[in-house]
Order: sequence, then structure tokens, then C-alpha cells
Amino acid sequence: MCTVCDAFDTKIEIRSPGQLESVCVKVKAAVADGTLVYNSFESDRELIGQQSFMELDPAGPFPDVLRYHFHCKRCGNCYGLFVETYHGAGGTWSLVGNLPSLIVGVSQPQPG
Ligand SMILES: [Zn+2]
Repeated sequence: MCTVCDAFDTKIEIRSPGQLESVCVKVKAAVADGTLVYNSFESDRELIGQQSFMELDPAGPFPDVLRYHFHCKRCGNCYGLFVETYHGAGGTWSLVGNLPSLIVGVSQPQPG
């Protein structure tokens, strides 16, 4: 178990805009304090041209589709925030994989 990302190692079913807001706020805070790394490369590859997660307003309005990738810089666990808001709020936050340790090893230590 990884003590850094343990709090995020859970599947969250998102069924309302309020729930999406609360997940976005938590994940943004985690990226801001260095717990999670926002993977803009994977996110852009998944959905070309989407707004950066860090520029997304958690209070909405949200685009029709959100597909964002994150990873833990300690253990390399990869998390995905995949939401479709168009057909009524529906989506998930979940563990989607693990980066090779080699990639994790090159990430720079955060100040503080
Ligand atoms: Zn971790």
C-alpha cells in the first residue's frame, strides 16, 4: 500500500454535478500539493483539444466529456477521471494502471 496516494486508491462512481465538483476539488488539491501528478500527455492523447484539468473550474460548467489521467509520483499508480456530463452526469474516478518504476524514478522531488 502506498501512503502517498492511498486516499485516492478507490473507485468513486460520479452520479451528480455536486459529486464531480467534490472529486475535482480533491484531485486539484492533491495535484497542487504534489500528491498526484496531472498527466497532461496521456489526457490530451485520450481527448485531443480538451481543457487542461488545472484550468477546469470545479464549480462548472463542465465540458460534455472529461478524460483526465493522473499518477502517483511515489508508486506510479495511474488514476483516471472519466466523466460524460452530456447524458446526465455519469463517470468514475478509478485506478487504471501503474507506470513502470523507471518513469516514476525520473520525476523531480517537489520543494517543501
Ligand atoms: Zn502512490
